[in-house]
Amino acid sequence: MKKRLLCTLLAALCLLTACKKVPEPVEFSTFAMNTFMSFTFYGKGETENQRVQDQINVTLRRLDSLFSVNNECGDVNQINRSKGQRVEVDAPTVELLVQALELCEITDGALDITAYPAVRAWGFTQEEYRVPSPAELAELTEKIDYTVVELGLESHSVPVGPDGEPDWSVHAERDTVTLPAGMELDLGAVAKGFAGDQIAASARGSGITSALLNLGQSTIAAVGAKPDGSPWRVGIRDPEGEGYFAVVELTDMAMGTSGGYQRYFEQDEEIYWHILDPDTAAPAKSGLSSVTVVSPSALTCDGLSTALFVMGLEKGTQFWRDHPELEFEAVFVTEEGGIYRTAGLEGRFSLAEGYEDREVTVLE
Ligand code: ADP
Ligand code: MG
Repeated sequence: MKKRLLCTLLAALCLLTACKKVPEPVEFSTFAMNTFMSFTFYGKGETENQRVQDQINVTLRRLDSLFSVNNECGDVNQINRSKGQRVEVDAPTVELLVQALELCEITDGALDITAYPAVRAWGFTQEEYRVPSPAELAELTEKIDYTVVELGLESHSVPVGPDGEPDWSVHAERDTVTLPAGMELDLGAVAKGFAGDQIAASARGSGITSALLNLGQSTIAAVGAKPDGSPWRVGIRDPEGEGYFAVVELTDMAMGTSGGYQRYFEQDEEIYWHILDPDTAAPAKSGLSSVTVVSPSALTCDGLSTALFVMGLEKGTQFWRDHPELEFEAVFVTEEGGIYRTAGLEGRFSLAEGYEDREVTVLE
């Protein structure tokens, strides 16, 4: 009898420790920044998990309202209606603009966050698609120029008074953005990546060591690895089909894909997509159908995937060679279906089931 009781107790103990070893993930999804997002994380108990989930939701709402072109209370909308006047903005807006403008500069304007007048003219914001005339396009290119976005950055440190103590009576100035009349910002190519970095940082700050943050439309940030120590495995969409043609392994890494297939319309047997070449204000036809970028920063992934799509395979590969400091790797898919990946993805990239016979060219 005693033996049986001992066995039962032992079995119960085993079950308990087994439960502890494989924690249940917290999974939830939400709609933000015009897309469905989904989150998986391994937490530390119900109350703490709820707090992390609430924090993610609050961050997303805040960033969405600041960056949305349509929200009249948001910073981007106010900048776009400012008619050249200075606009006071919140800290995340400045933080994103500083980082995004750096990417615009380093990509020599292939990424340009002032593309909004052209994006609107093609009807991509309101889904009322049309093809602007060549004259209209020429006029629109004049309105795309990230170099004239002016940031007025204030010192946020509190000045020291005559007694050597901080002088709290001095009102801290807010940062400002000035954009010439007629121009408009569109942070659509970088906002999800920025949100990914913010959420990953705050999750890490809350002690989360394992999470997969899917910011929708192929922007993903991985915090740590899976609880068993193996990397997160994320698929890259086949631009020509429904499935995934490849899998990338991510540990503390982000990944972003830009492709013509994500948003487009067809007119007179011609396809027009939502990634525009700032030089022509028209859809970027560079011979690519998608570009995926892997890097520690989700913002870099988001911004560079758009920029490399505009550049095309040859220029994009040279850009990768020229900028090791950006710590990114890339996978290009051409319109003919050619797959090209950079050498640094060795051991982290594999073709998915059903695609094993496709040839992959390694870029050095
Ligand atoms: P998605 O938002 O579908 O993931 P991207 O990250 O590539 O795709 O961003 C595309 C969006 O960015 C477009 O919908 C448009 O709002 C804006 N955009 C289009 N072309 C450019 C460009 N060359 N530079 C910056 N933003 C762009
Ligand atoms: Mg992007």
